[in-house]
Amino acid sequence: MPAYVPRHGALPPMTHIPPGNDWRECPHCGLFSRLPPRQPGLIAICPRCDEVLWRMRRTHFNFPFACGLAALLFYLFALVTPFLEIEMYGRFSLARIETGPVQLIAQGWGLVGALVFGVTLLVPAVKLGILLITLGGVHWMPARPLKLLFRWYEPLSPWAMIDVYLLGFLVAYTRLTGMATVHLDTALYALIGFMLAMAAADGSLDIEAVWRTLDERDHHTKPPALKGGVLMGCPACGLVNEAEPGTPCRRCLTPLTHRKPASLSRAGALVLAGALLYIPANLYPFMVITQLAGTQGYTIMSGIVELAQDGLWPLALLVFFASITIPLLKLLIMSYILITTRAGSTVHLEGRTIAFRFIDFIGRWSMIDVFMVSILVALVRFGQFANVRADLGAVCFAAVVVLTIFAVNSFDTRLMWDSQDKGESA
Ligand SMILES: [Zn+2]
Ligand SMILES: [Zn+2]
Repeated sequence: MPAYVPRHGALPPMTHIPPGNDWRECPHCGLFSRLPPRQPGLIAICPRCDEVLWRMRRTHFNFPFACGLAALLFYLFALVTPFLEIEMYGRFSLARIETGPVQLIAQGWGLVGALVFGVTLLVPAVKLGILLITLGGVHWMPARPLKLLFRWYEPLSPWAMIDVYLLGFLVAYTRLTGMATVHLDTALYALIGFMLAMAAADGSLDIEAVWRTLDERDHHTKPPALKGGVLMGCPACGLVNEAEPGTPCRRCLTPLTHRKPASLSRAGALVLAGALLYIPANLYPFMVITQLAGTQGYTIMSGIVELAQDGLWPLALLVFFASITIPLLKLLIMSYILITTRAGSTVHLEGRTIAFRFIDFIGRWSMIDVFMVSILVALVRFGQFANVRADLGAVCFAAVVVLTIFAVNSFDTRLMWDSQDKGESA
């Protein structure tokens, strides 16, 4: 796809930006640049850090809307049909998609149960609802309420984790086949369909075009006459507002800030908490499996070793990468970024921004092991014959994943680039 790079490489002086709705502040480096006119297939990227500012899609809204409708059908199927069934010692156990969270709560791990329920059932449904209502009403429903709804679409996306859940299923499935006869059921295929339909909707949805279509029916979005204030890109819709920090965005009403508040200390505290919990997450058992042969606790590492001993190398590597490497990488990269930013360093700005994007992108894949446990506890419930329980390690590990995702979200990468801008203006 062709990429468009706005002409000016240097920072335009902040006070001389003419009012208009086509200016954007790059969310990663803070550079102000002007979006080109819409030209389907073009990608407008930040001239300084290559962040995508606008991915112009070739399809009309009808296509993502149709994908959303298909996803809705798949989701309803996944809700009402069984997910997996196992047979062990002549006994049967059936799990639906919500059985895992329910069992986790029943075992006393309410927070993990709520987390799994949230990211596999609740958030995907809310995200889908936002997509369908916004696209369904984009031409006729009142624009302001739709904007208040649509501004949550992108922030919620990383928390809809059906794709990660399906990988967790793959790991759980290979473990189960060693213990029992496993039957795959309708909900599994429905979830795969849901994931594909949502991916197609996301891949064809032109988010800026949605905002612009809503703008046409909302006079509030018209740029006001210059009145002074700070130029701030809206964190939700991207529009550049000239206002005092704390005032709502004129397009989507999201409160504006110049930089994310207390970004360094918040991200630092979250990274520290994540690092502290990473230790018990690896020391304590993740789950306890009871079979006739006896009871055995599995830590993250011993689970990986067992997969490898069974000759399942690709899965062992996958879980090693997701459960050991990614959290560690996140903690290390975030620490490095936080320390260099606090010191006002201007070295490797592009490299640090790329590293940040990388951990931002891969962070959610650490949930594989948590989902694996939630599927095992849902199915293996045969009392003293065979039983799987979640254990403290799983809670600590889930907390590490969530804390590090929050840490990445609360860090404002523009702070890194501010040191360079200060140096240039001095
Ligand atoms: Zn940039
Ligand atoms: Zn906005």
